[in-house]
Amino acid sequence: MKIETKCIQSGYTPKNGEPRVLPIVQSTTYKYDTSEYMGKLFDLEENGFFYTRLANPTTAAVEEKIAALEGGVGAMMTSAGQAATLIAVMTICSAGDHILCSAAVYGGTFNLLGVTLSRFGIEVTFVDPDAPLDEIQKFIKPNTRAVMGETIANPALNVLDIEKFAALAHRNNIPLIVDNTFATPILCRPFEFGADIVIHSTSKYMDGHAVALGGVIVDSGNFDWAASGKFPAFTTPDNSYHGVIYTENFGKAAYITKARVQLMRDIGSTPSPQNAFLLNLGLETLALRMQRHCENAKKVATFLENDIRVEWINYPGLASSKYAPLVEKYMPNGASGVISFGVKGGREAATHFLNNLKLAAIVTHVADARTCALHPASTTHRQMTDAELKECGISSDLVRLSVGIENVVDIIEDIDKALD
Ligand SMILES: *Cc1c(COP(=O)(O)O)cnc(C)c1O
Repeated sequence: MKIETKCIQSGYTPKNGEPRVLPIVQSTTYKYDTSEYMGKLFDLEENGFFYTRLANPTTAAVEEKIAALEGGVGAMMTSAGQAATLIAVMTICSAGDHILCSAAVYGGTFNLLGVTLSRFGIEVTFVDPDAPLDEIQKFIKPNTRAVMGETIANPALNVLDIEKFAALAHRNNIPLIVDNTFATPILCRPFEFGADIVIHSTSKYMDGHAVALGGVIVDSGNFDWAASGKFPAFTTPDNSYHGVIYTENFGKAAYITKARVQLMRDIGSTPSPQNAFLLNLGLETLALRMQRHCENAKKVATFLENDIRVEWINYPGLASSKYAPLVEKYMPNGASGVISFGVKGGREAATHFLNNLKLAAIVTHVADARTCALHPASTTHRQMTDAELKECGISSDLVRLSVGIENVVDIIEDIDKALD
């Protein structure tokens, strides 16, 4: 099936007389005829549900759809994107291990890796993702166990050279994890370029309506944990789980199975079946919505690029962007819906601009159907001086605009009037 069809059809195929629409199975628990059968479930010898912390029929159907969209062997949903990042890393790393991560990542990822995981002994080095391969290689250590980056970085909007990062990871026998939140599998499928694991905050475009937090981890099945020789936790018995050896018992699904039966079991950051149902509704229209987000963002970016009231603009989908060649290669159908730009007149002018938007709402969220805007210097980063802002790559005039799927004429008119 083509990807637009998978958005609608994958994951749930009702049998004769069953509900046409994916049902919400709001049950923590499942009933069995015999204890023997339940025992087999716990030994992972039978496929089935035993507790919603680990798996649920509604959630499982949505996981199957997302795995199909990304082209992976399996997926596991989480209660939020942050939990997906946490479990994606913890499935691989223990205290004493090291991760190499693009410096252009979501602030939450930056804190999770740089502050919280470092408290638990997992070290991280943040690198300039645009640096040449051999320069980034210098930051790889003997204990480095994963390389990470974002397809389109939130909010910096760097486009990741996925093949370069995959080459870096694989020459060191470690996997590449890509956060594909802003691109979604509609615009880019990182597995096709060598990524091994994909994660998402489904709270953004996948849900698309700003109604349900969520995250997901997708396993390509391509990384050979045994051949690498660096991952004994995959190739020796897990005594906390009946002595299973993930690579031997689960083959290509070793990683995603370990993530579920070991980490989700212990951490419990499970999505609710209700939220899985809402995410599925969003996914059904994902292809249509992404097309419109891209078209609208390109028109808005072109308007801003040609406007004298605008100091600078950053949208990877513009021909003038330094990322244009990477966009052409990795996401030829569009560069998603988020733009950043500077209003002439600095911090004060940017604040005025935000206050005068009528259609675009001031919110912290990005990437849903409604156009919204954020001025970090007067909100999320307001305690910082201009010099401090510059150090973290945010200018005082920076406005982050998440272009929605309204009629673009109305979006541009709103921006035009607010700039006036
Ligand atoms: C929002 C976001 C996250 C975190 O996801 P939540 O669902 O908010 O926990 C992670 N990565 C990226 C790129 C994001 O935009």
